[in-house]
Amino acid sequence: MRDYEKEIMEAQSLKDLLFGLVNNARLSGKFFSEKCILKIFDLCNAYWMHNGDSKKPHAKLTSGKCSNGFFNCLEVLKYQQLSDFLAQQLALLIRERIGNTKVDWVIGSPMAGITFAHDVARALGATKSFFTEKDPNRSKKMLWNRVVIYEKETVLQIEELITTAQTLNNVQETIIEGNPYPVNFLPFIGVLVHRPAKLPISEYGDRKVIAVVEKEVWATEPEDCPLCREGSILYRPKQNWEKLTGKQ
Ligand SMILES: [Zn+2]
Repeated sequence: MRDYEKEIMEAQSLKDLLFGLVNNARLSGKFFSEKCILKIFDLCNAYWMHNGDSKKPHAKLTSGKCSNGFFNCLEVLKYQQLSDFLAQQLALLIRERIGNTKVDWVIGSPMAGITFAHDVARALGATKSFFTEKDPNRSKKMLWNRVVIYEKETVLQIEELITTAQTLNNVQETIIEGNPYPVNFLPFIGVLVHRPAKLPISEYGDRKVIAVVEKEVWATEPEDCPLCREGSILYRPKQNWEKLTGKQ
């Protein structure tokens, strides 16, 4: 029996994953550890966490705030094989919680969450997959007006990334408001990366979080930043990825 977890942990490059390894790992139907999933993010240059050592640099966000971590799910999910693999990992976790409960709809949010939710729908055996879309006329608002969820159908919401409850609540409110019938949401939210400023958070409202990866990622003004205070250098992640991650 091949040990796919070990093979992924020892992979040297993204190529190693994409030449069969990750597909075979998916077909094995096994769970993989968070460490192993983060190794995949790392090979895509899509993830970094500060390790607490103030001699190591930390991240400056576009907002000007300091942070101890950085995730960019699109850099992983743009690879269809990786999206399929991660969708299956999330589907396994969801099935562990909901058993054989029928899932009629899987719904994602724009933009990054749409294709991922579609892959999760397939992995879960859901009947339908769709998405809310951005409202071009109202900033931060979304639309649900292209398809109809009928009464008694169940809906599972999927996100690729959760930092706060804002987007996920917005999606739910948009669907309830736009759909002509009452909507039956399952009491769970499935997410690839759950990265609130403070853990543990096990639910948002009446929906419990089911996450593949969970990390506490904070952001703060430089004057309140513990890492700045200890002399850690600041880098913008996208421009200085090698320096920030030590991959040089
Ligand atoms: Zn700082």
